[in-house]
This record gives sequence, structure tokens and C-alpha cells, in this order.
Amino acid sequence: MDKEKAKTIRESLAADCTKCFGLCCTALNIVASSDFPINKPAGTPCMNLQSDYSCQIHSQLRDKGFKGCTVFDCLGAGQVVSQVTFSGQSWRENPDIGKKMFQVFPIMEQIHEMIAYVAEALSYDIPDDLSDKLGKQLEELQALTKLDADSLLSLDLVMYRFSSNELLTLASDFVRGKTIEKMPGFQNIKEFNHARADWMGKKLKGKDLRATDFKGSYLIAADMKNTDLSAVNLIGADLRDVNFSGADLSTSMFLTQMQINSAKGDLKTTLPSHIQRPSHWIH
Ligand code: SF4
Repeated sequence: MDKEKAKTIRESLAADCTKCFGLCCTALNIVASSDFPINKPAGTPCMNLQSDYSCQIHSQLRDKGFKGCTVFDCLGAGQVVSQVTFSGQSWRENPDIGKKMFQVFPIMEQIHEMIAYVAEALSYDIPDDLSDKLGKQLEELQALTKLDADSLLSLDLVMYRFSSNELLTLASDFVRGKTIEKMPGFQNIKEFNHARADWMGKKLKGKDLRATDFKGSYLIAADMKNTDLSAVNLIGADLRDVNFSGADLSTSMFLTQMQINSAKGDLKTTLPSHIQRPSHWIH
């Protein structure tokens, strides 16, 4: 697949709340914590959800203790479930479809997440055979988004996750390997492997972390101010409260909006084109 087309697909995976029936505010379970001031069971609308599916306290979420709402991102799954799977029918006017709609939402979220990662990998400079395999995987995943609700509920997502992860690791290793080759004093790629590492609160300010594999790592509250994170694999890394002020994340791999929303940064942080700078970084 053409790299620009893949980049466009990745960039298109963004929530459009105007086309969604408030699914994240209804389908999901909320537990009182530092991110939420209330408990809410799955399938029950949040007390702040209005009749037009907008949030009554949208501009004051953080001030009112709903930090978790400013972090969440469905990658566009909400509008697809609302408008495609259920053809524009809302759980409010059709209560009999509500239960199924709320069950489908987290499944669609996972499919969109896999599509985002696979499309991103296709936008890299990678060998043609790997690109072909990723292209087929993307087509299969995109086809899943058009299935009806019952078919979505019976999917074996583990199988798709497994096959996607294998290809994503190959793409990441290839890109990281190419970056390492260009670094002075050519080093072994294994030395850059910190997958699933526990680096919570670690002081890494100003470090050159290029091409590091942080897959599934715990980096909570790490200080990454002014760090070079080019070609770093951040898939599944826990980035809550990581300080990315002044850091270069422009070519970091598999970074999601949700990860960035949970982190800290500033106007000097550089981000990939598919990631928006969170408004709470600026105000
Ligand atoms: S506070 Fe607003 S954004 Fe958060 S769950 Fe409730 S309605 Fe949704």
C-alpha cells in the first residue's frame, strides 16, 4: 500500500462525538479514583450526559475531577458503532438495542486500535514483503468494522491481536535497526530492548533514547524532558504523568492519543502528525 494512503488512514482514526450516541459516557464502567469523582456501572448514562449526547461539563472536566474523560479516546469506534453497526439508531430511542450496542463498543475500540497500529506500520519505510502482509492484515481488520453486531460479538480478537502484533514487531525492529545502524559506534539492537521494563519515575531528562523498545513498559511519571525519542517503540507503554516537555516524539512509533493525553508536555514537545497536542498541556 502507498505510504501516504496508510498515513491518511491512521490520521482519520479520530473520535467524532457529534456522530456518536455518547457511548463512552454510557457503555463503560467508571470507578471513583483520582481520575473520576463518581462510580457508574457499565450501561448506565453518566449524570453529565445531555439529551443531545454532549457533556454538560465538557469545558470543566479537569476542574471537576473528571480527568479520565480528558484522557479517553475511542479512535473513532463510537461513531462507527452508532452510524454503521446500528445504522444511526440510538439506545435512547430504542432501549432494546442498548445492551448489544454497549457490548459491541469495546470490541470496535479494539479493532480500531489494531487498524491504527497496522496503518501506522504501513507508513514506514519497510521491506515490500512485510508491507504486503501488513496491507492484507489492514484489509481484514477494516472488513471487521462492517460486520453486524452479532458477528462482532462472536469474533476471536485474540487471533487478530496475535497476528497483528507479530507484524508490528517486525516493522518496529526493522525501523529501529535502520536507526541504530546510523548511530555512531554501531551497536547491537538487543541493547536497546527495554520492553516491559519498570522505569517508573526514572530521571531520563535530556537522554538520547533513540530506537529504544519500550513495548509494554511502565514509564509512569518518568522525567523525559528534552529527550530524543526518535524511532522509539511505545506500543502499550504506560505513559501516565511522563514529562515530555521539549521531547521529540515526532517519529516515535505506535504512540496513541490516549497515551499522550495521560502524559505531560508543552508547546515545545514535537508529536507525530496523527496526535493532537492536548489542550491541558497549554492551559
Ligand atoms: S463527565 Fe462528560 S465526558 Fe465524562 S463520562 Fe460524563 S458525560 Fe461523558
